[in-house]
Amino acid sequence: MKPDELRRRLEFYRDIGVKTLYRQPVAAQARVAGQVQANDLEPPSAPAAAARQPAIQLPPLAPAGDTLPRILEDIGDCRRCRLHEGRTKLVFGVGNERSPLVFVGEGPGADEDAQGIPFVGRAGQLLTQMIEGTAKKEGIELRREDVYICNVVKCRPPGNRTPEPDEMEICGQFLYRQLSAIAPKAICALGGTAARALTGRKEGVTKMRGKWLEWRAIPVMVSYHPSYLLRPYNQDAKREAWEDLKKVLHFVYD
Ligand code: URA
Repeated sequence: MKPDELRRRLEFYRDIGVKTLYRQPVAAQARVAGQVQANDLEPPSAPAAAARQPAIQLPPLAPAGDTLPRILEDIGDCRRCRLHEGRTKLVFGVGNERSPLVFVGEGPGADEDAQGIPFVGRAGQLLTQMIEGTAKKEGIELRREDVYICNVVKCRPPGNRTPEPDEMEICGQFLYRQLSAIAPKAICALGGTAARALTGRKEGVTKMRGKWLEWRAIPVMVSYHPSYLLRPYNQDAKREAWEDLKKVLHFVYD
């Protein structure tokens, strides 16, 4: 593998939160047959060195020319983590596949799990109102279906709990493929979980919101999760969320 490709792969693993790579011996018969795998670290021209050193096995990156239908097909009837056990419908994402703006939430709730569509419950209705209402006030013609909306995890966590790190790591690879395939101009992370999954930062949402951060060189605006805004006595947070949204909309659509 060329150093450049190796660097990209390692950056990808860092982005999805993989901190440890295990070395494992390459199957002896592959060596004998000279079939050193493409993702071994040693070049095939060094069989003697390879026989002495175990290779690092890396799973493949997003395939070239990746598309949303292909990602959905790869997810399939997913049982990669425990969240599948309580799933009614997998919630992949909805909206314009060529949108310059993607909203990323945490994970499906009960309504989303029942319908297989992200942000259709109360929080989703508020998100829709916020997107369409703010855009209209700012003189931007924009409907919910013009943007793309998805979540960090695609199956509903039991009791709407926060997804566990391993669940986010496993499902995160599909979120990252979705974002790479869409290649939006900006991403809006809704709430701390989405913000941490995208930026790798550990702070709470109040520290991160309103700032431009980055996911693989794509600007990320962090804002409050709409369910937080539904709670009473959150007037300041509501005002701040509207400010965040205005910033994103002007950045993307001006
Ligand atoms: N909350 C989320 O984070 N995502 C949804 O799709 C619905 C509620």
